[in-house]
This record gives sequence, structure tokens and C-alpha cells, in this order.
Amino acid sequence: MSTENATAPINAWQVAQHQFDLAAEMLSLDPGLRGVLREPRRELTVHFPVHMDDGSVQVFTGYRVQHNLGRGPAKGGIRYHQDVTLDEVKALAMWMTWKCAVVGIPYGGGKGGVSVDPKKLSKKELEGLSRRFFTEISVLIGPERDIPAPDVNTTPQIMAWFMDTYSMHVGYTVPGVVTGKPISLGGSEGRNEATARGCVFTIVDAAAHLGMDIKSTTTVVQGFGNAGAIAAQLMAAEGSKIIAVSDTGGGIKNTDGLDPDRVIAWKKEHGTVVGFPGSTTITNGELLELPCDILIPAAYENQITVANAENVKARIVAEAANGPTTPEADKILARKGVFMIPDILANAGGVTVSYFEWVQDLNRDHWSEAVVNAKLKEIMDRSFGEVLSMAQLHEVDMRTAAYLVAVKRVADATALRGLYP
Ligand code: NAD
Repeated sequence: MSTENATAPINAWQVAQHQFDLAAEMLSLDPGLRGVLREPRRELTVHFPVHMDDGSVQVFTGYRVQHNLGRGPAKGGIRYHQDVTLDEVKALAMWMTWKCAVVGIPYGGGKGGVSVDPKKLSKKELEGLSRRFFTEISVLIGPERDIPAPDVNTTPQIMAWFMDTYSMHVGYTVPGVVTGKPISLGGSEGRNEATARGCVFTIVDAAAHLGMDIKSTTTVVQGFGNAGAIAAQLMAAEGSKIIAVSDTGGGIKNTDGLDPDRVIAWKKEHGTVVGFPGSTTITNGELLELPCDILIPAAYENQITVANAENVKARIVAEAANGPTTPEADKILARKGVFMIPDILANAGGVTVSYFEWVQDLNRDHWSEAVVNAKLKEIMDRSFGEVLSMAQLHEVDMRTAAYLVAVKRVADATALRGLYP
């Protein structure tokens, strides 16, 4: 099946189901099991009112989807974005199931989102929206049932409001109901950097596998938020030269190298990376096609498509973002010999340290950053090795291999549990 042409919008849910179908086919999955895993277990849509600062009431729409609960409670972030749809949240929930399985943490997959541009809200409106949305989805939420986390445009402050809202309902403090919280409220050391750190661990592993010296590589990063900006910092710390980065305002390039710390400071002051002294302004499209060794898409879905995949020049693509490459583009990159570190592996560091946070909260414990980072490295290196072995065994690309590892783990768990009643 072709999931795209160059002009029609790409539906993330169709992409997610297509990726699953490929793995299910290769694993010769039982048709009944396949039917179960191909759809979300639960989908909740809520329409809820929020008091606005001008005295009006505005109704917003949000979603919480639990794709699979076979290996443990649902786990997945909540996204605030004007383009959020139920199909997008379903895709992200399914990807969470595979992500938790590929790194072997005891969770199923979930995801949530509100269709809103949070930049247009005041802090008071954002708090009102967050508390009411969490109340609406609380029928599904709980530390043993479904544990949300940050995603695009949601912050530790919003996680603190979620935690407080849930705690007010039950009458006592429940830090384990959400992860990505501020450290003072039971957040984990290292959580903020975890997605990027995990991604960089896999890039270092990939470079070693390909015989590349990371210190003589160049890196390009699309998206300069939590995942992208910190990935740029950590890649620079590994010795790679960061030659271009971007955000919604556009991209900047300097082939002599950009200092990520200074670009972060510039963005803080000016709201965008564009205009950074000494850089040339480029478009996000141009950025993806720059000559470089490592490309890190860290923004949004469907950025590498049939329209530009042929022009991607990177040797390694590490998907810090979820779903940045479409299936048709995947085939083109594979044919060109690009080494793909797929999203469900490359960005699994975030959910892994979220898992550490939840374990610490349930045990009323607090680990040092050194302990967190060492445990994260162990899991990312082991998972990279397992996916690489699967790729070599079946002579498939890394995405297919990651799906084979993940879908098999979830399918085995589901089959062992059996069908109730
Ligand atoms: P964020 O909101 O902190 O940052 C997103 C960045 O992308 C911003 O700089 C924004 O300006 C930029 N951006 C948005 N659309 C863009 C476009 N079309 N072109 C270029 N830049 C664009 O979000 P985040 O938490 O860093 O998430 C980024 C991606 O990483 C998402 O796909 C998310 O699902 C994924 N991810 C995040 C985490 C996490 O722990 N934060 C974990 C796993 C996966």
C-alpha cells in the first residue's frame, strides 16, 4: 500500500497502521491478535469549557487514547497544538506501545492532545485549560492505569498542574500520576535532557557500528525545542560540529559550526533561532537537504517525504521526533543507504527516564543524575544492540527491525494473557 503522494496530506494514523502491518506480516502474526493490536484499546474525545481572561467561555477539544495495556499501564505525553487530531493522537499512542516494548519497560502505549495554540493563551488561561482537560480525562488516568508526560508545547509547569489537579480530586498527593514534573514535585534528575541524551547514545552507537569518528562529523537539527536544542548541545559535547538548526521561524546555517548554548540564549531573547549572529538564514526545507553526516529531525511528523527524501544527504538520520519520515520516504532513504535510527528507538530515552521517575515516585525515592544517566545508557545501548542484531539477522532496515522486536514482545505478552472472558 502507498500511504502518500507528493501533494495530499499524510495521515499519521494510516502511516502507523501501515508500519504495524509490515511487521505483523513478517512475524506471521495470528489474524485475531493482529486485529487487536491494529486498533487502540480506548479512545476518549472531550469538549470542555475554559474561562478566558476577557470574561468569555471558550470550548476546546482534547483526546486521550490508550493503544495497548498488555505489558503495563498506558504511558505517553500530552501535546498542545492547533493541528492535533484524533488520528494523530491514535498514531502517537500506537508508537508509544512499540517504543516502551523496544526498550523493554513495563508500559503500554497512550497519548493525549488538545487542539489549541498555547502561545495565544495567558498563563491563567493555560492553567485553566490544563486543569479542566486533566479533569475530563481523569476517568482513564491514574498511577497504575495511565501516566501522562510532556510532549510538544507542554512543560514541567503543566505537569505540576496535572499532578495537583489529580491530587485535589483524590485528597492526597499522587506524584506518580504524571512524569516530567519539576524536580521539587517528584520529578527525576535528567528527565528534561533524557529524550535528547537517549537519542545521542544511539547516534554514538550507530557511528561506532558504521566506523565513523563522531569528532569529525557534522550535525543538522530540525526543531529547537526540548528534544532538538538539547540534542544539539549533547552532539556538540561529543565533538560533532552543529552546522544548522531550525524552529518554526526558519533555519540558520554556519558551516564553521554553531554554538548551541549561544543559539539557545539567542532564541530565549528573540523567540526564534533566526537572526543568530554569523549565521545564514535558510528554510526548513533547505535544512533537511544540507550535506551533513547526521540529521536529527526533532520537530514534527511528516517532514521527510517523497518530495525531499531523494535529496537528503545525511549518512545517519536519528528521529528525535515522532514520525518525521513517511513510509515512502523510508524506502527511498533505505535505498540510498542512509542508516535510520527510528523514532521508537531514537527518542525512547524520554519515556525511559519517565519510567525511572515513576519508579522513584512510587518508592518515595530520589536518584542522582549520574545514576539516571548510567541506567539510561545501559537501556539505550542494549536496545540499540538488540535492534541491530534483528536487522542483521533478517537483513532488514533498522525501522523494520525495531518493529519486529517491539511487536513480537507485545504480541507475546497479549497472547500469554489470553482473551478475557
Ligand atoms: P518542543 O515544543 O519543546 O519543541 C518543538 C520544536 O520544533 C520547537 O522549537 C518548534 O519551533 C519546532 N518546530 C515545530 N514545527 C516545526 C517545523 N515544521 N519545522 C521546524 N521546526 C519546527 O517539543 P519537543 O518536546 O522537543 O518535541 C519535539 C518532537 O520530539 C515531537 O515529535 C515529540 O513527539 C518528540 N518527542 C519528545 C519527547 C520529550 O520528552 N519532549 C519524547 C519523545 C519524543
